[in-house]
Amino acid sequence: MSIASQINMINGELPQGVKLVAVSKFKPVSAVLEAYSAGQRAFGESRPKEMRDKALNSYPDIEWHFIGHLQTNKVKLVVPYVSMIESVDSVRLLSEIDRCSASLGRVTDCLLEVHIAREETKQGFSPDEIGVLMQNALQFPNIRFRGLMGMASNVSDTEAVRSEFRTLKKLFDSIERPSFDTLSMGMSHDWKIAVEEGATIVRIGTLIFGER
Ligand SMILES: *Cc1c(COP(=O)(O)O)cnc(C)c1O
Repeated sequence: MSIASQINMINGELPQGVKLVAVSKFKPVSAVLEAYSAGQRAFGESRPKEMRDKALNSYPDIEWHFIGHLQTNKVKLVVPYVSMIESVDSVRLLSEIDRCSASLGRVTDCLLEVHIAREETKQGFSPDEIGVLMQNALQFPNIRFRGLMGMASNVSDTEAVRSEFRTLKKLFDSIERPSFDTLSMGMSHDWKIAVEEGATIVRIGTLIFGER
C-alpha cells in the first residue's frame, strides 16, 4: 500500500473536524514529501533535531506537531518551527516553552499530555493535576492551551482502551476554556476507537509509513 493510498483511506473514514497528524518520526524527508503530494499537511515528530531538519528541508506550509518527550534544553530547537507541542508533561517544560516563546515574540499552541494508560512508564500529568494547572494558566502568557493529548494502554482489550479514551474525553469536557478545542488521541492500532470517543486529532505513523 502506498503512502498516498493509506492517507486517502484514513481521511475517507475520519469524520469532519477530525485532523490526521501523519507521524513521520524516523522516516526520511522523502516520505514526508510523498505524503505532502497526497495533500497531507500536518506531521508529527518526536525528536527536536529531526523535526527541525525536516522543517528546513521541506515546505513552509507544513504544520509540525511535536509529540515526543521534550527536554527543557531542547525547547529552543522546537519552538521556532512547531505548530503545536502536543506532549507537554511537566510544569517545568511549560515554563521553558513560555519563556522561549516570549523571547521569539510568539504564542505557542500546546496540549497537556495526560497519563491515562495502565503502564507505569508513560509520561504525562495525572487527571487531577490538570485542573490545578489550568487555574494557573495566566502564569504562562505565551502559551495557548489548546487541549489534551493521551495514549491508551497498548492492549488488545478494546473495551479497556475505550474506557481510557472516555476518561480523557470527560476530563477534556470538564475544562472550560475558550481556547480548549483539541483532543488528541488514537494511533495506528486504536484510532477508530479514539474517533468514536471524541478525538479531534489522531496521530498515525505505522499505518501510513510502515513499520519503523
Ligand atoms: C509514535 C507515536 C505515534 C504514532 O504511532 P503509530 O503506532 O506508528 O501510529 C502517536 N503518538 C505518539 C505520542 C507517538 O510517539
